[in-house]
Amino acid sequence: MLKISKLFLYDEPSVPQIKIESLAEFIKKQTGIDVEMRQCFFEHFGKKEKTFHDLASCRVFNPYVPFEKHSPTAEEVASEEQDPASNIVLYDGFELQNIFKTCIPEEELSRDQLHLIFTTKLCCSYDYEDYRYHGRTVICSNPSVISTTGIIEAPAKPRDYYLKMYEKMSQGLNLDALKNEFIGRFVEYGDDRMDRIARGYAFQAIFYHLTGSPFCESKECMLYNAHWQEDLLHAQIEIGKLCKQHQTILDNI
Ligand SMILES: [Zn+2]
Repeated sequence: MLKISKLFLYDEPSVPQIKIESLAEFIKKQTGIDVEMRQCFFEHFGKKEKTFHDLASCRVFNPYVPFEKHSPTAEEVASEEQDPASNIVLYDGFELQNIFKTCIPEEELSRDQLHLIFTTKLCCSYDYEDYRYHGRTVICSNPSVISTTGIIEAPAKPRDYYLKMYEKMSQGLNLDALKNEFIGRFVEYGDDRMDRIARGYAFQAIFYHLTGSPFCESKECMLYNAHWQEDLLHAQIEIGKLCKQHQTILDNI
């Protein structure tokens, strides 16, 4: 089993609900890993024109075809530099991960050093089972990437929500009342629960690095790979800790 001698944690300042100091403290306390907090990834490593071009090149426009490198327009490259968090753009998660990796110097890429990057960019990956892209919250690798937009957009909202949403939309009604009816049952932008939820995804990335398997089958474990918002909230907010089996693995590292 691998050891992590140092974990670099990169902040996403446009999502202040995730408090990077308290996350660093939590990881240190639970795992004993030395954590170094850093500012936003591209602030830390410097903004380069080529990086913005590469980022714009891995945007996904058609979710039904596998990744094809996109030839970005000057506006798309410029918008990467401004990084507007409000615009939802899809990115191929593995291409994105690779761009992050090329920014990190060789001496920080030894196997005992793990980089964990928070970003607003919405990652997705192509699935050959159903021939389409799906939103992903975490890309487990080194560096690992956690998409804050993915936390909100990737796991599905309750089934009833969609049924009622289509009904209201077909009647031309707005969705505000519906959102109120389901309040609390899924994560929204600016949601304070993001802080606790981020812990679970950080632990999935850490477990992937240590053991090769990031997820747990149990809904009572923070490593549960939730496909539904309600399961996500159960595992991260109501439970918010590892199951016995995963706690034992961690204790033995
Ligand atoms: Zn578990």
